[in-house]
Amino acid sequence: MSLVTLQPNFPLAPYKSLSNDELSARIDAVRRDFGKRLLILGHHYQQDEVIAHADLTGDSYQLSQMAAAQTECRNIAFCGVHFMAETADILANRPEKLAERAGERVTVVLPDMAAGCSMADMAAIEQVEAAWAELGEVIDTNDVTPVTYINSAASLKAFCGRHGGIVCTSSNAKAVLEWAFARTSRVLFFPDQHLGRNTALKMGITNAQMPVLDPFGGDLGGNSEADIQNSKVILWKGHCSVHQMFTKAHVEMFRKQHPGIKILVHPECPQEVNDIADVSGSTSKIIKTVQEAAPGTKWAIGTELHLVNRLKQQHPEQEIHFLSPVVCMCATMYRIDLAHLCWSLENLQAGTPVNVIEVNEDVTRWSLVALERMLEVK
Ligand code: SF4
Repeated sequence: MSLVTLQPNFPLAPYKSLSNDELSARIDAVRRDFGKRLLILGHHYQQDEVIAHADLTGDSYQLSQMAAAQTECRNIAFCGVHFMAETADILANRPEKLAERAGERVTVVLPDMAAGCSMADMAAIEQVEAAWAELGEVIDTNDVTPVTYINSAASLKAFCGRHGGIVCTSSNAKAVLEWAFARTSRVLFFPDQHLGRNTALKMGITNAQMPVLDPFGGDLGGNSEADIQNSKVILWKGHCSVHQMFTKAHVEMFRKQHPGIKILVHPECPQEVNDIADVSGSTSKIIKTVQEAAPGTKWAIGTELHLVNRLKQQHPEQEIHFLSPVVCMCATMYRIDLAHLCWSLENLQAGTPVNVIEVNEDVTRWSLVALERMLEVK
């Protein structure tokens, strides 16, 4: 193996010229050195060469929970996007965990800081606070539960914690909405309008009761006072750029070309797709559904491309298609590559960590309140 001489804090540039074999060997060396003190977490949407180095794979919340449960882990390299690394920091460094470790923090690094999430970025805390204040002029916000999808910045989770609200995942969104409606007569749901709408429709709430609040839409997000006063769920105008790409026409095309095919989609897809799919569910549900299907089952799956391709490889006994003729992968997840992973790990090893994600104390405290409420929901 050729070695490039580097000094801490190692710059990134030289790593970009190393081959994947060299990078993999160096990543393995760091892993051996750290042992159980390091966890590399790989979200399902990561590239295969990154997943090959992951100690744990899963969706965003599963990964953070699993990592926080490890007692020997002191360092986490989160191969995912920014909000996921924030959640890992919040859970791994919550007060009781810090007390167990005599105050020693778990260092969480995101190998590439440009790995954000376009959906999470569609709801900035300043916009949500401004919208909340404006809503307060036409309805009683004490009677509104703010619900944030886990795919959101920690500051939004903290907003929910402070205002009697809660976090949801794509697996428990219905149970969380039921929890909210047991407390208040309205919900403000952000940042993903599709998950909010698809979930609420299944609970009998109509689109007429779900105004969409556009943070750039002017007064009341482009709604009238009556729209807001007649609402049950006020949806934030955010979406996932990956899942928004799937259309009703894609479903119809696959059904025409592959008779008997089943359509399996994520609830971040638009309503027109969710309404006609055979199965709609979280990433975990998509994986489980394929794992449990009989050999010969034909699927067209509407979620991130890397995950669909991995399912295709793991289940050659089934016929799996990607539910779009257009490539839709998560461009920000794709930013994590072996060069960034190796660079961040070697800096961690040298004691000069880069891209550390550390959520401040106040945001951590209130985010935990909203996350813990979610955990209480069965
Ligand atoms: S797939 Fe969509 S929601 Fe998930 S990280 Fe990428 S942009 Fe965000």
